[in-house]
Amino acid sequence: MRVENLNLKQFRNIAELDLHCPEELHLFVGPNAQGKTNILESLYLLALGKSHRTRTHRELIRFGEKRAVAKASVRKGEQKLRLEVQMTEKGKKVSRNGIEQPRLSQYIGSLPAVLFAPEDLALVKGSPQIRRRFLDMEIGQVSPAYVHHLTQLNKLLTQRNSLLKQLGQKGTFQSALLNVLDEQFIQFSIDLWKKRLAFLSSLKKWARGIHQAITRGLEELEIEYLPSLPSLLDTDPGEWPLLLQRELEKKREKEIRRGTTLIGPQRDDLRLTANGLDLHLYGSQGQQRTAALSLKLAEIELIYQETGYYPVLLLDDVLSELDDSRKTHLLEAIRGRVQTFVTTTNLEGIDQETLAKARIYQVRQGR
Ligand code: ATP
Ligand code: MG
Repeated sequence: MRVENLNLKQFRNIAELDLHCPEELHLFVGPNAQGKTNILESLYLLALGKSHRTRTHRELIRFGEKRAVAKASVRKGEQKLRLEVQMTEKGKKVSRNGIEQPRLSQYIGSLPAVLFAPEDLALVKGSPQIRRRFLDMEIGQVSPAYVHHLTQLNKLLTQRNSLLKQLGQKGTFQSALLNVLDEQFIQFSIDLWKKRLAFLSSLKKWARGIHQAITRGLEELEIEYLPSLPSLLDTDPGEWPLLLQRELEKKREKEIRRGTTLIGPQRDDLRLTANGLDLHLYGSQGQQRTAALSLKLAEIELIYQETGYYPVLLLDDVLSELDDSRKTHLLEAIRGRVQTFVTTTNLEGIDQETLAKARIYQVRQGR
């Protein structure tokens, strides 16, 4: 996978950018607040149809302007793709090879990408919601069907929760409609669980290897899925429908009293441990960062396995937080396979071999 050209207009603080970038490693260097992350954000936007920093696309339009455009031409094996995201005050339009893509689920995957940004520390440090979002986004990149099922589950949950509230107000615990919704809920949940567990079992293998290399064998990373229905993991998937149905029956009164769905993929979590230590609770900052980075780098291999293409790697401000040997190791690990875009405030501690191969850009005031 190679981004060959990146073209931006009125994107954040960048009035115009025309980058011919078929090389492998690109280093964007400059002081704070110059536009380095904005460039990575535009690549992420082209890859996933949305920003990693904001939900409101209007923020991406340069102050005082009405329209922003991000375009990329991408080489995917023999294929060439033209990707484009246009943002106006009215909305956002995503297109591939000149054809508008109204459904993001059908667009995602055009440019597989993996981003590691300072916020990703929250993968370990933050709430379960952040870990679920990580799973959902990453699986979504390799499985459009997953995105579709997830959207359906969320719609269904909105419907189910509002019905639960209504029933609570009426004080009834019987509802034919709830039974129908439950049947669908069980189907979607099981589908998502299967996909998440399969994804996780491969992710785990890669992440552990990478983690071991970065910590030089001193720490062993373990990743566990924590379902809101704990018996799930000890039950044969063939029996999941019955298991979930029974659990929903058991919880029905409680769910109606609380007006919300208490079990399902929307309430699950992940546990990350290093040498048996729960990193969320007890990990040092450095340990948390190493674990989060390992998860992200594992995705590179996973996406390759699933699609046959290495994704592009976007590393925002990661180098400044790693010691020199980790920096070198990280850059070595990705060399030769993965097109990488890196932001950094300085080039200190980056080995000569890497610097010799890299394209280095000075970023100043959006130029
Ligand atoms: P750091 O090293 O601190 O991470 P950076 O070079 O990555 O800095 P960016 O996050 O890319 O900085 O942001 C650069 C500037 O873009 C910021 O000063 C920000 O105020 C500005 N900016 C953000 N959104 C817009 C916008 N819509 N219009 C104009 N400028 C914007
Ligand atoms: Mg930045």
